[in-house]
Amino acid sequence: MKRIAILGSTGSIGTQALDVIASHPETFAVETLCAGSNADLLIQQAIQFKPNAVVIGDESKYEYVKEALWNHDIKVYAGSEALEQIVESGEIDLVLTALVGAAGLKPTLRAIEAGKTIALANKETLVVAGDLVTRLAKEKAVNIYPVDSEHSAIFQCLAGEWNNTIEKIILTASGGPFRGKKKEELSEVTKAQALKHPNWSMGAKITIDSASLMNKGLEVIEAKWLFGLKPEQIEVIVHPQSIIHSIVQFEDGSMKAQMGLPDMKLPIQYAMAYPDRLSSDFPRFDFTKYPQLTFEAPDLDTFRCLGLAFEALKMGGNMPCVLNAANEVAVARFLKDEIKFLQIADVVENAMQNATFIAQPTLEDYLHSDQLAREIAQ
Ligand code: NAD
Ligand code: MG
Repeated sequence: MKRIAILGSTGSIGTQALDVIASHPETFAVETLCAGSNADLLIQQAIQFKPNAVVIGDESKYEYVKEALWNHDIKVYAGSEALEQIVESGEIDLVLTALVGAAGLKPTLRAIEAGKTIALANKETLVVAGDLVTRLAKEKAVNIYPVDSEHSAIFQCLAGEWNNTIEKIILTASGGPFRGKKKEELSEVTKAQALKHPNWSMGAKITIDSASLMNKGLEVIEAKWLFGLKPEQIEVIVHPQSIIHSIVQFEDGSMKAQMGLPDMKLPIQYAMAYPDRLSSDFPRFDFTKYPQLTFEAPDLDTFRCLGLAFEALKMGGNMPCVLNAANEVAVARFLKDEIKFLQIADVVENAMQNATFIAQPTLEDYLHSDQLAREIAQ
């Protein structure tokens, strides 16, 4: 029995992870649930899954949650410090990091420090401080299993290939709702249009990132750290059907791809159950329903965020952290109708130009760069 802690249990990844757990009660048990502010859903999940403890990020909701769970023998905590501490609990085997944004960094580091296996959905953690996270994981002999579908695909392609040299990887991108559009056509798009993803149903932040292709940029950086690659070994190809989830090319030229219908429950389950594959009733892919799988180069001129992410990756140091922080601010403001869609890239580029470059940042440097980049972006 694996005892799981979910950071971000009320979100898109968190709720799907609970679906996976509910289908495999003999394999998984819920030890801890943590959410930001959706107290009602957290309470409902706690009553259903009977964790030992829950954490609500929003401290003003502590009494409300405590009251609702008073006769359920579940410990209730609140605030970000509690969230960072709870991952160290001796009962936890695996921590699923499904918070959104740089807020995931500190709890992930604490979980690794405590020797917990990580199923990582929160890609921003690796974008912000991939060197620190992967170095600590190595030192503590902690495995980080990818949940992101592209990285799960690469991970699945690498099974049995651990000693073989990767020539390159190719991350597939759906292209999002604005694929094929030119800059002029995107100047006035609304958040409702940007939130309509053709293939995936996800949280608001990653859906906007998918529309701008920043999501693919963050994933390029995530892949560098997960698989120890150089920037020039990572390519992106737009594949609108989202059936091939990514590809590895080995030094003999052979390519392996992982495919299936787009359903995040599969990579979530693979990360939680690794090295086993569990049964599932997720919908199966049928070739006759998809007579054509198509591929095209990303349009870097229109979707500037992807190019900016490659630039940040090549510069290294604190630059990916700056890119991520500025993007979080820009996306939040776009979601409040305070800036236009194309301005997201402007905000990110401006922050990258005006931030102080640090080649080998410490954790303090990262936290400080994150803060400063947010101020510049704001
Ligand atoms: P979401 O917005 O749907 O859910 C986020 C969850 O984190 C919620 O439970 C929220 O309450 C919690 N949360 C947010 N900030 C918090 C804070 N400061 N303290 C405590 N809790 C907090 O997001 P999502 O779409 O589930 O994405 C989660 C992560 O997984 C992101 O990093 C995203 O990039 C990544 N991811 C998501 C998908 C997807 O299909 N949704 C796919 C691949 C990767
Ligand atoms: Mg992805």
